[in-house]
Amino acid sequence: MNLLVLPKVELHLHLEGCISPAEARMLADRRPAGQGIGPSDLAACYRHRSLKEFLVHFGRLVDLLANPSDLAWLFARVRGRLRRQGVVYAELRVSPSVWERHGLPTEETLDALLDAARAGVPRCSFIIDGVRQWDRRSLIRDFELALGRRGRGVVAFGLGGDEAAAPSSLFQELAQEARKHSFPIIPHAGEGLGADEVASALDVFDPPRIGHGIRAAESPALLKELARRGTHLEVCPTSNRRTGAVPRGKRHPLAQLWAAGVSLSLGTDDPALFRTTLSRELQWASRRMGWGPQDLARSQELAARASLLPPAERESLERFVSAGWSAGALPGEGGGPTIRSRGDGACWTRV
Ligand SMILES: [Zn+2]
Repeated sequence: MNLLVLPKVELHLHLEGCISPAEARMLADRRPAGQGIGPSDLAACYRHRSLKEFLVHFGRLVDLLANPSDLAWLFARVRGRLRRQGVVYAELRVSPSVWERHGLPTEETLDALLDAARAGVPRCSFIIDGVRQWDRRSLIRDFELALGRRGRGVVAFGLGGDEAAAPSSLFQELAQEARKHSFPIIPHAGEGLGADEVASALDVFDPPRIGHGIRAAESPALLKELARRGTHLEVCPTSNRRTGAVPRGKRHPLAQLWAAGVSLSLGTDDPALFRTTLSRELQWASRRMGWGPQDLARSQELAARASLLPPAERESLERFVSAGWSAGALPGEGGGPTIRSRGDGACWTRV
């Protein structure tokens, strides 16, 4: 099965984690003399032995983004890569508080990005990710940035960062405010902390999706609850391995989550820093978790269903993904038909 030609949906992807080594070099070369970063320092940014090291490297790469147009430039390149991967719809996370700490103006950068994303293939939407353990002022500012750009490409507010330093229980008021506006919050949960934190995130936010959520597998009762609610988990296997969320020697809980009937799909998280792609994540599930074509197709249909597009577009995407995978999975098709989303992204058709 040629995965590249099958229509895919990616729901967990941080734009700032998409700076490839070649792009980092290009960005570094644009810096004034003396402010650059040497080739060996740059190469070291792609080798991490722990989550702590990963976060340092992430920050060093974000430092290379010197102005709003750099982020729009990066987005255009990432969109091209997604297209070549056969991704027909993506929801990307971006973190204005991180930009601010690295000297980028938040509003101007976000608007440059939303303008760059408005037309083109694949269709892309954004989740504004607040850094949960940083100051509350920045978090509220990010929430308002997101809410104010709803309908202009922003579909939700996310909560990323250190779960242990700022667990979901601290965000009751934010959850209430989001509920008032019927604006979804999609937290990262159950990556660093265990099943209790996933349960707490469910209680506090009642989110349509959870970033990671893998440690829900520690609690059969919670798995049942996730399946009952239909909460979708954005599972990022390579990231889980590289950050140590799933320690070496321990089996990834994907198979357990899937067997429990939890809605889930695979994501790349920070693909450049983890050296992965969505197709590689799917290949991994196929080789290591025993997923057959039907499992891969089903998870992609679930991703389309869990997207935060307006209902009519979401249904159109779901039909498109489903049709593509059933055609591609036919025996003797030699990898399936070439399917692309229509140029304006307003709906998805075969071309
Ligand atoms: Zn993430």
